[in-house]
Amino acid sequence: MSATPTSLDPRIITRGREFFSSISGESPSVFNKGWWTGKVMDWAMKNEDFKVQMFRFVDVLPYLSTSESLSRHIEEYFAGDDSNIPDVLKWGATKTKFGGGLVAKVLNKTIRSNIESMARQFIIGQEAKEAVKGIKKLRKDGFAFVLDLLGEATVSEVESAAYRDGYLEVLNAIHKELDKWNALDNGAGGLDWGHTPKVNVAVKPSAFYSQSKPVDLEGTVDGMVASIEPVYKKVMEMGGFMCIDMEQLKYKEATVELYKRLRTKYPDYPHLGIVFQAYLRSVDEDVSSFIGWAREVNLPVSIRLVKGAYWDYETVLAKQNDWPVPVWTHKPESDMAYERVGRYILENSDICHFACASHNIRTISAIMESAAELKVPEERYEFQVLYGMAEPVRKGLKNVAKRVRLYCPYGDLLPGMAYLVRRLLENTANESFLKQTFADEADMDRLLENPAETLRRQLEGKCVTPSEDKCGMPRFKNFPPADFTLAAERDAYPASIAKLRKTMGGTVPLYINGQDVTTADTLDSYNPALPSEILGSVCQAGVEEVDRAVEAASAAYLTWRDVAPEERAEALLKAAQYLKDNVHDMAALQVLEVGKQWDQAQADVGEAIDFLEYYAREMIRLGKPRRMGRAPGEMSHLFYQGKGVAAVIAPWNFPMAISVGMVSAAIVCGNPVVYKPAGSSSCVGRALVDMWKAAGLPDGVFNYCPGRGSVMGDHLVDHPEVSVIAFTGSMEVGLRIQERAAKVQPGQQQCKRVIAEMGGKNAIIIDDDADLDEAVLGVLYSAFGFQGQKCSACSRVVVLDSIYDRFVERLTEAAKSVKLGPSENPANYMGPVVDKAAQQNVLRYVKIAEEEGRVLVKREVSEDLKATGGCYVPLTIVGDITRDHRIAQEEVFGPVLSVMRAKDMDEALAIANSTKFALTGAIYSRSPRNLERAYKEFRVGNLYLNKPSVGALVERHAFGGFKMSGVGSKSGGPDYLLQFLDPRLVCENTMRRGFAPIEEDDDWLS
Ligand SMILES: Cc1cc2nc3c(=O)[nH]c(=O)nc-3n(C[C@H](O)[C@H](O)[C@H](O)COP(=O)(O)OP(=O)(O)OC[C@H]3O[C@@H](n4cnc5c(N)ncnc54)[C@H](O)[C@@H]3O)c2cc1C
Repeated sequence: MSATPTSLDPRIITRGREFFSSISGESPSVFNKGWWTGKVMDWAMKNEDFKVQMFRFVDVLPYLSTSESLSRHIEEYFAGDDSNIPDVLKWGATKTKFGGGLVAKVLNKTIRSNIESMARQFIIGQEAKEAVKGIKKLRKDGFAFVLDLLGEATVSEVESAAYRDGYLEVLNAIHKELDKWNALDNGAGGLDWGHTPKVNVAVKPSAFYSQSKPVDLEGTVDGMVASIEPVYKKVMEMGGFMCIDMEQLKYKEATVELYKRLRTKYPDYPHLGIVFQAYLRSVDEDVSSFIGWAREVNLPVSIRLVKGAYWDYETVLAKQNDWPVPVWTHKPESDMAYERVGRYILENSDICHFACASHNIRTISAIMESAAELKVPEERYEFQVLYGMAEPVRKGLKNVAKRVRLYCPYGDLLPGMAYLVRRLLENTANESFLKQTFADEADMDRLLENPAETLRRQLEGKCVTPSEDKCGMPRFKNFPPADFTLAAERDAYPASIAKLRKTMGGTVPLYINGQDVTTADTLDSYNPALPSEILGSVCQAGVEEVDRAVEAASAAYLTWRDVAPEERAEALLKAAQYLKDNVHDMAALQVLEVGKQWDQAQADVGEAIDFLEYYAREMIRLGKPRRMGRAPGEMSHLFYQGKGVAAVIAPWNFPMAISVGMVSAAIVCGNPVVYKPAGSSSCVGRALVDMWKAAGLPDGVFNYCPGRGSVMGDHLVDHPEVSVIAFTGSMEVGLRIQERAAKVQPGQQQCKRVIAEMGGKNAIIIDDDADLDEAVLGVLYSAFGFQGQKCSACSRVVVLDSIYDRFVERLTEAAKSVKLGPSENPANYMGPVVDKAAQQNVLRYVKIAEEEGRVLVKREVSEDLKATGGCYVPLTIVGDITRDHRIAQEEVFGPVLSVMRAKDMDEALAIANSTKFALTGAIYSRSPRNLERAYKEFRVGNLYLNKPSVGALVERHAFGGFKMSGVGSKSGGPDYLLQFLDPRLVCENTMRRGFAPIEEDDDWLS
């Protein structure tokens, strides 16, 4: 696509100047300082801290149903000495401090009503009737409309259905009136301006189907089509227009596919539009392939081009996940893309109608001039702006272009606040054209200049940030999670799974001293979704093989210990590379062997890579001897050496991540390893052999010894030549290991160190002001992701009384909406538990839960799934649980969630802390004070504020608990390796005959 020709620039600038002069002296109402909203916007633009507090307060406001909670939040958000806080908020905040007297109540009421009227400014009505009235008024003023129903976050199919019904309701209300409406400009055929339907609605597809997710493209599109089609039929019946809005990038592909399905299903009905976002780097390709498709199927289409509303979200998400940032990072790049793609659409106006949606006078002028130059007929393009914003722009547009449509959201204030925050952010962003024009009163020439020139200026003098850490290696970064918006990522799984199926099922030997070793005793590892499918017949080590493995490790120790730390680290980096090269195959193995969903399996492999990369760097850091003290004439060095042979006893729930984490920590510290994987994940365990072979590890340093715990477990722990035992698993086994390791065996030369990560009974607290859209999904994911079999999984949700019913209703509906079935099908949210023993154990706890509480959800296993013989258990949520119930105290390790009621935050924290475990926890709250309390008083190893309790990342969320949840310091954290090392200190007297060499950092007399 080619940029706007520079020859057009003078005309664009002239047009822009005329535009500005036609609206001179006017300002959008949001910037009118005579009004409360304008004042707040002004404060927000001057003070970033206030802006954050204010927008967060706006966001929480609809949840503050009592005068008490409103007062409390005003105080928490706005009390303090900050002179930048507007008086009305400050007074409200101070008055509440003194017991919430009458004055405070009045002020609080004023604040609430001011914010509500702020929201109303952007929303055409809360009810269908009000919306219709508002629309009629707009039409009287000569504006067309596109109606949007607020309510983007649906967490269950019940909510999605209600959302769809909301559309049908308002369409029915409009239908009754429709005949009475004159077409705008007395257009022929009852069409506005003679060519476009009077009724126009916008739909946000993800809200129509609560189970939308990029990993399941087909299922998402099917769900969206099924839910939106009735609305589209109604629109068609009314002779209206429907535009499919574009949301976050993760829904882009499904949205385009949805459009194509509807458009081809009703080929004779042309009034269907779609939105593309110019801020996406892919926009040129997005639009050209879409128009290419339209030509291919020979169907006219319509595009609304926007810059895009989720710039911050997309940027943060990409940065957090280390994905390439999908949006342009310089604002003029979005502007250039808009002009370029807008022109391209105009060039294709024979098949594509164009809705130019922008408040930017430069952008609008560029489109107008391109349209004029290309001689695009007027009915082939129109202009759109948001209701409640940029009134001068819409007026100016109407004067010159006539065809202006207002995007009118309507609906409850609750979802309305999220929309309001977006609009406030948009208006106060430094990059916003509206802010620059009407608030900053920027120079008109700059506002109208070619964005290419603005970009050139911005790029001048930019510097690059260093990407190396102190060891001279690239800085540690977490391996990016799978981005399932990429087709290659989605296609990789079926391919890897099919490949695995062709090769799996054979004998899996032990690996001792660089040799495969077979045994007569074997144990089949099977697919828990289909137990007849065998992944491998795994040889089982007995005591004899354990002795051989320890002997090999022991023999390798003295050499491996003295290999330079950098060289040991190098082996880890090579191992990491091997996993990166084989990430899908490694993950596919987990999908079939332990029933992990694609994303969970990839995250597991990613975590293994992270451990390798992180511990390699940590060893290089620790490997440098540290001078102790600075006394002249003496050189004291502290340094570390590996402790000796390490026994690593790993769990099946993070079969690669935790195994690799413990094994690599031991190895990089100079300790050869005897590794015992869990029985149900021994094939994943065997993959470590290939990994270490690829890394070139010497024989004997890594020994793979799966075996029955009852046969060889104690023998390994008791072995006198084992120095370190790294264990992750149940509390019972962990305690047993500690007890046995404490006993000195004949011939034993050193005290054993035990690092044990054990169980959890993790709670999530839901405060009365929690954002339920996030809290419900966060709890669902924490409790039922990978079938609740993570040690960090949420098994108790503690809900404050005043929000209990609302939360529980949404949670239970959400839990009823998710799909259950084999994890290899990405549509399924929950699969089988790991094996038959786990299945029996969970079923036992489901029974206990039923006896102790009130069953809120029990998703019985379907007959189809039962017929597979898979290890399925019902997804279970049980209410009325109190702290003395067994289900509130014992670790289940399965998809059983207890809901507990707390009268206030004191009680919620007491309940959360009331078990013998202290692993993870989370709280969803928008009260700064309660978040601070949780920070201090919610005593767990890993606490998450407004995030799920699961998904720890190496370094960023170094992981591990205390109390009965474990002993040792956090894995993936800076202290972890120290546990595998013995510190040594060597002190040399450097003075000879009264002469001492001078060292750089000596503490001589100054
Ligand atoms: C009728 C209508 C319908 C809409 N429908 C949708 C929709 O379906 N989906 C959707 O996402 N949005 C939609 N929007 C919102 C729209 O995306 C924003 O209103 C629009 O981006 C603002 O652009 P502007 O040209 O008015 O203002 P400008 O101030 O010129 O542009 C602001 C925009 O620039 C981009 N930007 C900001 N900072 C940067 C940066 N550092 N680097 C690169 N780019 C940056 C962002 O997209 C930001 O919104 C719609 C808007 C209208 C008017």
